[in-house]
Amino acid sequence: MNALLDYQAPADLLKDRIILVTGASDGIGRAAAEGFARYGATVILHGRDTNKLDAVYDGILAAGGAEPAVLPLEFKTLTAELAKEAADWVEQTFGKLDGLLHNAAMLGDRSPIESYKPHLWNDVMQVNVNAPFLLTRTLLPLLRLSDDASVVFTSSSVGRQGRAYWGAYAVSKFAIEGLMQTLADELENTSHIRVNSLNPGATNTAMRRSAYPGEKPEVNPSPESLLPAFLYLMGKDSKGVTGKALDVR
Ligand code: NDP
Repeated sequence: MNALLDYQAPADLLKDRIILVTGASDGIGRAAAEGFARYGATVILHGRDTNKLDAVYDGILAAGGAEPAVLPLEFKTLTAELAKEAADWVEQTFGKLDGLLHNAAMLGDRSPIESYKPHLWNDVMQVNVNAPFLLTRTLLPLLRLSDDASVVFTSSSVGRQGRAYWGAYAVSKFAIEGLMQTLADELENTSHIRVNSLNPGATNTAMRRSAYPGEKPEVNPSPESLLPAFLYLMGKDSKGVTGKALDVR
């Protein structure tokens, strides 16, 4: 068992914290957002599918969590202007941001580089790299207003060691690691913002099932099992930890 999964969070760990989770409509992001709300956070739920987002919203309220907010945004067409509009809305609604979990991503095709479709390559890079960049740059002023802010990029093992047929997805995750390191270095001595990446490892979600259609889904841990690692990174116990590429398992 990895030490991150052994982390035991106090019940009020995230009280009064405002945390934006991208890709909160499904899979790992959904489990993280629901978990953050259970530990006291007010969560901003980003995704594309408003029906799925509404279901997460309803579930958090039914479980007694603070009222979340919903932020539907398609990342394939996200521009600097749309990202700024989203940040303005966060500012008007909450006035600051304490946590930003970059989790939304698309898999693209499993195919050799030689035959990788250029338009799909662009979509994967746009959703997995450009959109987190655009959101991060425009949300930084709000993160600076927190006295203890945490930015987490969700990575992958193929973002640390390239692997055949993982194409744009692998390259996008390498780029996320580079963005994490660069940003962490810029902010380390000039802000209260820590920046890390987390590789969740194989997890039973729609993305994993699509990448490994021949695998029994239940052999992989549930998204909910990752929660201790996300709580650690979003709460005060990870203060001072920055620029790290972390693994859950
Ligand atoms: P899922 O496919 O279950 O969920 C993906 C989420 O991203 C959904 O909320 C989806 O929104 C959102 N999303 C996808 N495309 C877009 C888009 N174009 N615009 C906006 N939002 C989008 O994936 P996982 O939960 O498995 O993955 C979460 C993270 O974990 C990803 O970064 C992934 O790379 C990483 N990861 C996952 C592993 C695994 O085994 N599952 C292993 C290693 C890393 P909507 O539902 O509204 O479309």
